[in-house]
Amino acid sequence: MIQDFSFSERTLAWFDSHGRKDLPWQQNKTRYSVWISEIMLQQTQVKTVIPYFTRFMQSFPTVTDLANAPVDEVLHLWTGLGYYARARNLHKAAIHVRDEHNGEFPSDFDSVVALPGIGRSTAAAILSLADDQAYVILDGNVKRVLARYFAVEGWPGNKKVEDEMWQQAQSLAPTSRHGDYTQAMMDLGATLCTRSKPACEKCPVMTHCLAFAQGRQAELPHKKPKKAIPTKHTHMLIPFYQGSVLMHKRPASGIWGGLWGFTEVSEDDIEVAINDIALHLNAPTFDKHELVGFRHTFSHFHLEISPILLHLHDAPQLSVNEESSMWFNMQEASKVGLAAPTVKIIKTLQTDF
Ligand code: SF4
Repeated sequence: MIQDFSFSERTLAWFDSHGRKDLPWQQNKTRYSVWISEIMLQQTQVKTVIPYFTRFMQSFPTVTDLANAPVDEVLHLWTGLGYYARARNLHKAAIHVRDEHNGEFPSDFDSVVALPGIGRSTAAAILSLADDQAYVILDGNVKRVLARYFAVEGWPGNKKVEDEMWQQAQSLAPTSRHGDYTQAMMDLGATLCTRSKPACEKCPVMTHCLAFAQGRQAELPHKKPKKAIPTKHTHMLIPFYQGSVLMHKRPASGIWGGLWGFTEVSEDDIEVAINDIALHLNAPTFDKHELVGFRHTFSHFHLEISPILLHLHDAPQLSVNEESSMWFNMQEASKVGLAAPTVKIIKTLQTDF
């Protein structure tokens, strides 16, 4: 029965009347612009990405513009999108394209997939969407569609299950219109075959969908086996004077790599660290305020953050090394990357102090 039924033809016909065609990254497509949009869209919703994409392309119209920009500026334009490794990898990859490919984003799969931050599905998306090359994708949306369509057993993040799904994705591929098909699969997953309450009655492949036939849409795809994630605690020390806060640049790797933030200490070291800061700033008198704590969750742990404001009475004496420390004026916000908790603390200070 499946042989008589063309999954790709039906999906493309549905795309022609219902697919998304006016997103900013669908206009004047290049491999560079599609790449930027694909990276931004990983783990982030379309409506969130739109203003970020527009600002990013205005600031860096070409891959060489991106490569030549300071990483701080790239991270600044990324502030709020999260998963900052994506931005650092974009910058690294742009430098590689500038230096190794004469500033021309490569058009062959092996060169694209060799760039930092680009996996098999992203490379396939870039080349099919921008150049209509014959590659299929397997991102989160497509995995959900295929897991339901074929009633795939097992968690799609598991290597064996994923390999099987690549074969299934390939088996459904069209012989032409590869870019439209990639977009159609993304749209099908994002607008009809949604995580909860998929709109099966509107779906172009419903008659052959096993999950629909078996009533297993809610169960598929199978969830990742649960693992409890640990909770860590940190205290952030925030020297504050006349609308400015003292910040430091974090090391390039690790969480919030390359972003600016506050001194972090464990509970036992708070008093010693505060004395050190007061000594260094030659600002012996200050008021200490414990701000309301909050939780920030990463994929592999929760972080309970307790911010402590050190409200200095007198002008600090220390001149800071701009490479690694700065007095961040909260009214004139410098062009640097800030992690979400840092932004949250600054907003609290702007409202309450
Ligand atoms: S019929 Fe429903 S579950 Fe199956 S692919 Fe379509 S939307 Fe998804």
